Amino acid sequence: MANLTRDFFIALSNSEFLNENARKWGFRLGAEKFVAGTDIYAAAKKVRELNQHGITVTLDNLGEFVYDREEAIEAKNQILNVIEQIHELELDSHISVKLTQIGLDIDKDFCLENMRDIVAKANENHIFVNIDMEKFVHYQPTLDLLKELRKEYKNVGTVLQTYLYRTEEDLKELKDVRLRIVKGAYKESEDVAYQTKEEIDANFIKVVKERLQGEAFTSIATHDHHIINQVKKYVEENNINKDKFEFQMLYGFRTEMQYALAEEGYRFCTYIPFGNDWFGYFMRRLAERPQNMNLVLKDTFYTKENTLKKGPVVAGVAGIAAITFLVGRKKARNK
Ligand SMILES: Cc1cc2nc3c(=O)[nH]c(=O)nc-3n(C[C@H](O)[C@H](O)[C@H](O)COP(=O)(O)OP(=O)(O)OC[C@H]3O[C@@H](n4cnc5c(N)ncnc54)[C@H](O)[C@@H]3O)c2cc1C
Repeated sequence: MANLTRDFFIALSNSEFLNENARKWGFRLGAEKFVAGTDIYAAAKKVRELNQHGITVTLDNLGEFVYDREEAIEAKNQILNVIEQIHELELDSHISVKLTQIGLDIDKDFCLENMRDIVAKANENHIFVNIDMEKFVHYQPTLDLLKELRKEYKNVGTVLQTYLYRTEEDLKELKDVRLRIVKGAYKESEDVAYQTKEEIDANFIKVVKERLQGEAFTSIATHDHHIINQVKKYVEENNINKDKFEFQMLYGFRTEMQYALAEEGYRFCTYIPFGNDWFGYFMRRLAERPQNMNLVLKDTFYTKENTLKKGPVVAGVAGIAAITFLVGRKKARNK
């Protein structure tokens, strides 16, 4: 059942039709629980609030399904503007970028040029750029591109997903690079990825311990308190300096724990996504933890006075989602 629900939301996140239409519907479905608004100014307010509590931020100007050069350049310009705003508004924030947003699916060299502009501008402003890791099909191209960029700039790093078998190998290659360690958010085949939570968690701990023995900075990105407690214990027992790592969580998740970790003296960074392209991101969050639906259902279907909303949008969205999923499954079966 859990896998079915996960597949359902992953299928929705992959639907170009729904992603495109979500831009037209505007910001709905309770997405504001996990996405900090549709523009940088809304996001900046949240950054400030967190900064005041000693929490740093990584900003993600959301964007997916970019297959045309104009769109990729537009996305790049928006990201350049985010860098300017971080600098001008004196926000304590770095940025996270998805390479598919700036042309990886169009042409690798074109994407590299766009990324060079971003990393160069960020470098001028002493801002770090993290390349988010996407589906496995983009994995090697992402590492190749990172390698090219690091010939010129050191303010760029990426993410390793511990569901992949090859993570441990890549760790050696990336020992000098600032990395974020995550479990992995996509659906990957057993040819390349562990399938059970136990294996993925065990690999996460193994990879984090190995990183903490090295020199480069590590972002430990998880909402899993079992893992966080194990890391805390390991750090204490091995006298590891707290400046070598930070915990990271997504905006809207376990907010109290985010503040508590910062108060305990751990470095903490919140990942804040914003922008019109919120749908795919939002669906992946529901895929990871269907209980998140509880949080958003109330906002979507009930008014502040606790009466059921009658908005056609709600019914429409739910209907379209269901139809898209069913059509998608039928097509998959026919393949
Ligand atoms: C900052 C950040 C950046 C990320 N970047 C990427 C990326 O670039 N590429 C990528 O593929 N993935 C990325 N991810 C997603 C990641 O790969 C996982 O899919 C996601 O974090 C879910 O795994 P988890 O470790 O948080 O906990 P899970 O494995 O989902 O949960 C483990 C346990 O933790 C507890 N728990 C988890 N969430 C909650 C909650 N909200 N409330 C209460 N208890 C909870 C529950 O006990 C649960 O059983 C990122 C995640 C974070 C936090």
